[in-house]
Amino acid sequence: MAIDRVISGQPLNEVEESFNISLRPKSLDECVGQCSVKDKLSIAIAAARQRSEPLEHILFHGPPGLGKTTLANVVANEMGANIRCSSGPAMAKAGDVMGLLSNINTGDILFIDEIHRLSTPVEEFIYPAMEDFRVDFTVDSGLHAKTINFPLKRFTLIGATTRAGLLSAPLRSRFGMLYHLDFYSAEELTAILVRSAELLQLHCEDGTLELIADRSRGTPRVANRLLKRVRDYAQVKGSGLLSTAIVENALAMEQIDTLGLDEMDRAFLRALVNVYDGGPAGIDAIAATLGEERDTLEDVVEPYLLQTGFLRRTRRGREVTKAACKHLGLKFHKAKDTAAQPELFEQDQQ
Ligand code: ADP
Repeated sequence: MAIDRVISGQPLNEVEESFNISLRPKSLDECVGQCSVKDKLSIAIAAARQRSEPLEHILFHGPPGLGKTTLANVVANEMGANIRCSSGPAMAKAGDVMGLLSNINTGDILFIDEIHRLSTPVEEFIYPAMEDFRVDFTVDSGLHAKTINFPLKRFTLIGATTRAGLLSAPLRSRFGMLYHLDFYSAEELTAILVRSAELLQLHCEDGTLELIADRSRGTPRVANRLLKRVRDYAQVKGSGLLSTAIVENALAMEQIDTLGLDEMDRAFLRALVNVYDGGPAGIDAIAATLGEERDTLEDVVEPYLLQTGFLRRTRRGREVTKAACKHLGLKFHKAKDTAAQPELFEQDQQ
């Protein structure tokens, strides 16, 4: 599955997750980028601390790997609060949530990753918990059914989602703060890599971390992951020092091109050009052509292609852009009903 890609924003496995945790910033000051979100959070945290009150509920949304979990942990640290973590799919029944909520103390943080995947009954169960800090729990059924009203301590729920659009309006409206995380600039990613390289005690030649940053798709998790691959390569094929040649060779081995596109991105664009004449094509049709899941394409492939201007999403479907064809050396067809002459970009023009 595409989730196994090196440049996927999602964690690949537990080993990698522990590697990420060791690089995860602990305070707002250590976090690079996302300045406007950090400014707003630091005001909210300072105000809540002055009033000795828990924070309002917070929702972080944006593509995977941009720092939603990191910020939730940073908020907990800055508030001096405990954090309990779960995820939408793990909270299958109201009973699972009850277990979590009943053990929560005043000011604690409950972090729910992939909150858009909560089932409707669980979502409805947590509405009163978020709004009035109580839950209504039904025991028994039929004639003997009883609703128990269970008061909770005042806590802060932090939700994270890659799909804010899938959140129901009632759930969304119960968050006091909603923040979108943006892709990081190459300079910000370089700063993240400098910090990671220091923590990992890596020796790097000038300009090498910039090379990795340029290919990290605006995503810190990808930057750290590529750094790890380059570190392995440098250790086995060289002396451990990160030189330009080592970085170039390691990234070429991973089939990551100069803009950070991997084989999956290129296959997506090629399918759009070769099978659908450049589009418009529906996402389900493209997913079927590639043998991938629609969700994977929407979460992990499309955001970066849209951001780089290689893909357009229109009401009629996905369309490839001239820039994408130029990058891949493919023939460009303008969207079907706009009657334009196809233009040719030869491979050797690049
Ligand atoms: P998400 O929850 O959005 O998928 P994470 O919070 O797990 O992303 O972030 C992935 C990794 O990227 C973290 O382990 C951390 O090392 C790094 N990271 C994320 N945001 C930042 C940041 N602002 N500054 C430095 N490193 C970051």
